[in-house]
Amino acid sequence: MKVLITGGAGFLGSHLTDALLARGDEVTILDVGGDLKVRHNLSNPRFHYIRDSVLHADILESLILKCDLIYHLAAVVGVEHYVGDPYEVLNVNINGAQAVLKLAYKYNRKVVFSSTSEVYGRNPKVPFAEDDERVLGSTRIDRWCYSTSKAAAEHFCFAYHRLGLPMVVLRYFNVYGPRLDKIDVGRVITIFMGQVLRGEPVTVIGDGKQTRCFTYIDDAIRATVEAGTNERAVGEIFNVGTDVETSVLELAETMIRIAGSRSKVVFVPQESVYGDSYEDVPRRVPRVQRMHEILKVRAETPLEKGLRQTIEWFKAGNGR
Ligand code: UDP
Repeated sequence: MKVLITGGAGFLGSHLTDALLARGDEVTILDVGGDLKVRHNLSNPRFHYIRDSVLHADILESLILKCDLIYHLAAVVGVEHYVGDPYEVLNVNINGAQAVLKLAYKYNRKVVFSSTSEVYGRNPKVPFAEDDERVLGSTRIDRWCYSTSKAAAEHFCFAYHRLGLPMVVLRYFNVYGPRLDKIDVGRVITIFMGQVLRGEPVTVIGDGKQTRCFTYIDDAIRATVEAGTNERAVGEIFNVGTDVETSVLELAETMIRIAGSRSKVVFVPQESVYGDSYEDVPRRVPRVQRMHEILKVRAETPLEKGLRQTIEWFKAGNGR
């Protein structure tokens, strides 16, 4: 199969590329980023890297025309962007998705859209089922621009599906693993990683009782591959993740222990890290029955095992 992955040079995209190449597919990625995460594939004749933006309609059209299946992963992701550059988040995430869907519809190509658990916002009712409500804060709080951008793109997916476009929506829950961002930036695991490896204080925001369901990359990728090929997935939304809940404090302590670090936990107020334009989500847990029943995938990698593999990768000097 000929597969186009927008955002294919990112964390999820690079692992998805590996999985599809291993399956024998031909993979073209469209990405504005560097080749760090896909460098190992550059000599593979079934791999093509187009360094450009999804907002560049001519290139996008020529690539969509040539593929059988599209994974739309290109997006501006990361809390530092939500609070630092909301314009880019909204522009790329909404207009990029619209551009991909419009052309996919024109040529009738299936789209698997990568959405996010952020869509549920701070809905207090966990676990979140796919059709549960979204509970968000004010539009003056920049944090919600990411959630809103992905939800708007999901609406576009359903609008095009109604017109006949085959599509699948995947909502990822805190996926982590090797190649996750650069050390010290991005998500909590990479921020803690730098601190733990240098033996510095690990900055737990608030009381550390907020929880996430940290999902190992290999599990997320198995669900992603299946979503692209399973006919029963079409028209559905899937939570992709584990339902094992871990507090941020527990994450910090586990990382310190596994890395054999002398770091200590320090509790810091959220404003000192993200300023006023941020609201934390207290608990985020998926309902995973649909993923189990239709995609036949279970995210079973224990946190300790996944963290060990991730820490080893960063310890080896990667991600700097
Ligand atoms: N967090 C933390 N210390 C940090 C960075 C993040 O305690 O230095 C917390 C953050 O407040 C949140 C959780 O870790 O509760 C996960 O944050 P992340 O940025 O990875 O993404 P989110 O799951 O909130 O989208």
